Amino acid sequence: MSEPAAAVTPMMAQYLEIKRAHEGALLFYRMGDFYEMFFDDAVAAAEALDIALTKRGKHLGEDIPMCGVPVHAAEGYLLQLIRKGFRVAIAEQMEDPAEAKKRGSKSVVARDVVRLVTPGTLTEESLLDARRHNFLAAWCTVRDEGALAWVDISTGAFSVLACPPARLSRELARLSPREVLLAEETERDWAGVVSDSGASATPLARGAFDSEGGARRLCALFSVGSLDGFGAFSRAEIGAMAAVAEYLDLTQKGRMPLLRPPVQERPGGAMQIDAATRRSLELTAAMGGGRAGSLLGAIDRTVTAAGARLLERRLSAPSCELETVLARQAAVTHFVEDRAAGEAVRDRLRGAHDIDRALSRLALDRGGPRDMAAIRNTLAVAENLAGRLGGDLPEVLARAAEDLTGHDALHDLLDAALVAEPPLLVRDGGFIAAGHDVELDEARQLRDEGRSVIAGMQAKYAETAAVPGLKIKHNNVLGYFIETTATHAEKMMSPPLSETFIHRQTTAGQVRFTTVDLSELETRILNAGGRALELEKRLYSSLREAIIAEAARLSALARALAEIDLAAALADLARGEDWCRPHLSTGRAFRIVGGRHPVVEQALRKAGEPFIANDCDLGDSPIWLLTGPNMAGKSTFLRQNALIAILAQAGAWVPAAEAEIGLVSQVFSRVGAADDLARGRSTFMVEMVETAAILNQADDRALVILDEIGRGTATYDGLSIAWATLEHLNAVNRCRAIFATHYHEMAGLADRLDGVANATVAVKEWEGDVIFLHEVRRGTADRSYGVQVARLAGLPASVVERARVVLDALEQGEREGGGKRETLVDDLPLFSAAPPPQPAKSAPPEVEARLREVHPDGLTPREALELVYELEGAG
Ligand code: ADP
Repeated sequence: MSEPAAAVTPMMAQYLEIKRAHEGALLFYRMGDFYEMFFDDAVAAAEALDIALTKRGKHLGEDIPMCGVPVHAAEGYLLQLIRKGFRVAIAEQMEDPAEAKKRGSKSVVARDVVRLVTPGTLTEESLLDARRHNFLAAWCTVRDEGALAWVDISTGAFSVLACPPARLSRELARLSPREVLLAEETERDWAGVVSDSGASATPLARGAFDSEGGARRLCALFSVGSLDGFGAFSRAEIGAMAAVAEYLDLTQKGRMPLLRPPVQERPGGAMQIDAATRRSLELTAAMGGGRAGSLLGAIDRTVTAAGARLLERRLSAPSCELETVLARQAAVTHFVEDRAAGEAVRDRLRGAHDIDRALSRLALDRGGPRDMAAIRNTLAVAENLAGRLGGDLPEVLARAAEDLTGHDALHDLLDAALVAEPPLLVRDGGFIAAGHDVELDEARQLRDEGRSVIAGMQAKYAETAAVPGLKIKHNNVLGYFIETTATHAEKMMSPPLSETFIHRQTTAGQVRFTTVDLSELETRILNAGGRALELEKRLYSSLREAIIAEAARLSALARALAEIDLAAALADLARGEDWCRPHLSTGRAFRIVGGRHPVVEQALRKAGEPFIANDCDLGDSPIWLLTGPNMAGKSTFLRQNALIAILAQAGAWVPAAEAEIGLVSQVFSRVGAADDLARGRSTFMVEMVETAAILNQADDRALVILDEIGRGTATYDGLSIAWATLEHLNAVNRCRAIFATHYHEMAGLADRLDGVANATVAVKEWEGDVIFLHEVRRGTADRSYGVQVARLAGLPASVVERARVVLDALEQGEREGGGKRETLVDDLPLFSAAPPPQPAKSAPPEVEARLREVHPDGLTPREALELVYELEGAG
């Protein structure tokens, strides 16, 4: 840049230089107690944060826009900015302003970026959702191979998965990372997939994904000579892991978080659930986006944040390995059977803290005494818990129990070193317990004694000067001083008192003095106080080192606590909600007796209504064709069966009286014609794309639920597509499926296809009304009850009545068959809204014309109803 030197102040020059090195991020530029932003950053941040935009000086003749946030409140603002998709570079003052002054009046305080805050690299408690993981992921492709690596820097968990490009979107849906790193050159190919998953895409130079340099970097990071000990990794896997490591280095400015060695996930180990299915089943988030109303929200009874995160992970990726599922299930069963143990364990766990996150903050040196206390308290909880768990445990719990104990040395150290409830920050000291360190105790004694000596001194001077209101006060400018009112000051400023009292300052109404004794005492107090703080900081560092030396065992402990919490929570749920232990096998059974939908059931319970339990058996006929009127409970039934499979493979008990499930490899759930206007695609197109995905992917271990597929187009098109889809599922995919439709014509298929059975949700008619029984039975629905449902919905009585007449006529026409149908509608008495009755001849000509166009053969009852609306509009 060719800026005239005079136009740029040294501070601005420094600002611009730092800013240039951090394009793409807002720069928080530390100035005293504020982080200031300038130029475009200021404009963007002021708008995003709704704070005042001001000006500060000029740059090249123009006003410099500026805004700022106080340092003590910065976290809240950071959170808002990150949520709005910004990245923030934090530039701190790297020296005391006094140092800079020493170098000359023009010299600027040294500043540097100490950290880049991005969605995937948060560690602060206030910036994180305690009950959710915060993953940073990297996607790397090498030719046709792809790999996804991800890390939760707030817990240190690091994983990698070989993942064909076609599966990326599914894996992102499972993990829902906050941020995904992409190689710059390939960014355009993948950014869409990433943003669809809700994550923000961050481009990185291709070099960061290089597998050779990457392997070296990873070896150094984990202090090993070769990565072989962690697994055999492909080039794409190494590239993805290396990119994660590079980015952590970049954003944390060299201060690496504690990372656990990478765990290679086996493809096929987890049940495959794509993004649309997750949404439609509302697994971890409800349609509205929140946790409330989702399956996770309904079943989470964990008492620790780490337990809640583990539950989310299990629900997001249920296992497909029988042994794993059974082991997890056995842990739950243990606590279901030993209720007292379960309750005692939960009680104790309530005292545990989120030590994973405390540990990571300490490792990044962003922690404080309270993080240490969290670890201390949790170690005590763990020891106590181990005592209560007892022997004879199922494998998962036995393994966890082993990790709970053996932390005595660290616990004793922290217990002796820290006060019961330490302050948040190291800065002001006061966290090391008395009796832990002799030197510290001495310094503190001196400091505290000094304070009581001051009180004595004040009394003495009040007497000497005969000024009872005389006070000794303290401020940061003068230190300790004696203060009195102007009236009394005069005699103190004249002999003999002036020999003792040295005048320092006169303010409005007050005069301030010092004495030789007071200055000496002050120095002693200051020295002792400063020394105490210094000692505390030193002790803090050594405690931090002691904790970090135990990091691996502490994170094993954290995992153990989460595992125990989850098992006890699922047991509590199973008992409280009367769930059963599912019988799992490698076969193809799917037999649910008395199944329920946990979320709908809870909602109904709040309304004081019972949930009707329903059976489902896909054993002999792997495909059920479910018909029944709208509102009968088809969707609920479909979803509850998918949820039962997911819960079972997550290791939980399930909401049923009995359940027998052959392991499910993939779950697909689609709902026809859901409005997807937000994404601007035709609903029917979405429906077809999603159906295509199922037909192309579902294997014979898949469980597919399809709700009203084909609804988004004209009747015959829809029916044909639904029909063909069902045949394909049966003949090609050979999966287990439940297929709900309002096309009664399809019921005939079941008679022709082996492996397809008809089922219907029963309703009862009573005095012309339909009563929903919510009972699923084998067989077909005899009619759709659309007219009755319309009436329940509050359609005007005259319209309902008319619809009934039209429907009767149409149905009669169908029964009689033949060419007469064309004239059927002509024969219908015309619509009359009563009162006042309208003579038939007054029907508008458009209505008559429209009626002549109608081919009753081509109308479903529903279309007949729609016709009625239309006619009513015209008439
Ligand atoms: P459909 O898909 O047939 O239109 P839904 O599954 O959406 O019907 O169910 C409609 C409503 O009926 C639900 O909101 C719920 O309140 C109620 N419902 C569904 N299934 C049951 C059931 N098994 N027991 C009690 N109420 C149910």
